Amino acid sequence: MARLIFLGPPGSGKGTQAAQLAQDEQISHISTGELLRKAVADKTDLGVKAKYYMDKGELVPDQLVLDMVRERLHKLDVQSGWILDGFPRNVAQAESLENLLKEVAQVSDSVISLEVPDDLLVDRLLARGRKDDNEETIRRRLEVYREQTAPLIDFYRARGQLKSIDGAQPISSVTAVLKQVICS
Ligand code: ADP
Repeated sequence: MARLIFLGPPGSGKGTQAAQLAQDEQISHISTGELLRKAVADKTDLGVKAKYYMDKGELVPDQLVLDMVRERLHKLDVQSGWILDGFPRNVAQAESLENLLKEVAQVSDSVISLEVPDDLLVDRLLARGRKDDNEETIRRRLEVYREQTAPLIDFYRARGQLKSIDGAQPISSVTAVLKQVICS
């Protein structure tokens, strides 16, 4: 059983890898980006609030995201394991996650950091063409990643949980390395 946290800049492929691994290992894939996009599409209260930030490439306020993750982690289908993809995204969220995991009496096993050079990230995001993938938003999301999310690499390294993977390789090669790394 695995409980994993995926870290990586936008375009690093963490969503793709998390979805594949979750399917192969039959564990839950909890993507905060996907949950938020669904809330926006459904025009829920959360979605209406989140859209404003997402369209600008900013982080959605911590409390909104935390409530959403808490609800998800309390559901029964996550008991067999999970991958958190896109959360935590800053140190405050990582600290909240530690409390939340205590609340549900679970611990995370490893934190996977997908490393990809910036120029490749921008190419991939422009090619993907999601609604929030225009040049200005991409630039802002990369900045937010560097300022707020990248410090989590040291945060988890200090806890002895960090495993780094080269995300610049073809999708199937990254998946193969990922499986080796989480089994080791
Ligand atoms: P990407 O990794 O390509 O930026 P995601 O699908 O993970 O895309 O997230 C899309 C957007 O959703 C982010 O730009 C941000 O506005 C919002 N978001 C997702 N997860 C979080 C989070 N943990 N905290 C705050 N905002 C988030």
